[in-house]
Amino acid sequence: MAGVVAIVGRANVGKSTIFNRMVGERISIVEDVAGVTRDRIYAKASWLTKEFSVIDTGGIELENASFTTQIKMQAEIAIEEADVIVFVVNGREGITKEDEYVARLLQKSRKPIILVVNKIDDNQFRDYIYEFYALGVGDPIPVSGSHGIGIGDLLDQIINQL
Ligand code: GDP
Ligand code: MG
Repeated sequence: MAGVVAIVGRANVGKSTIFNRMVGERISIVEDVAGVTRDRIYAKASWLTKEFSVIDTGGIELENASFTTQIKMQAEIAIEEADVIVFVVNGREGITKEDEYVARLLQKSRKPIILVVNKIDDNQFRDYIYEFYALGVGDPIPVSGSHGIGIGDLLDQIINQL
């Protein structure tokens, strides 16, 4: 089976945007229930000659669960299922308590973690990445999911770890 990459991180950091960029198409699954459009959670992707699958754990939700329960479950799925974990944070907001919580959960895993600092849309924001070293999960890499910046570098790092 091809390698599995899981994307983790608190809400609104840009996980789905990065997922769509990595997968290269913008398809969403429309559920049978009328009016409910859900983000796609699993997709196949390839980069250079490598094929792998990507999981957007943010789309895996428990009904009526607290934030803490949701993110813990999502991180556990990433730790169990993934060969490489992509941990996404928001470069414009700095480190939050929720980021620290996710970082602590991920640190318990031996899986390789790639720390992605999203929303670095412009070079003027590039220095914002340094504070994320304090999460203790490795070197932060700047990307802009919405502008498609840094996605090639991210994919290079992913396939190096697969
Ligand atoms: P998720 O909850 O982690 O899946 O986050 P989404 O991918 O749904 O993105 C949350 C919000 O951030 C949306 O309004 C996106 O358009 C926005 N967003 C995502 N990536 C970027 C980025 O690189 N730069 C900026 N400025 N906004 C972004
Ligand atoms: Mg999402």
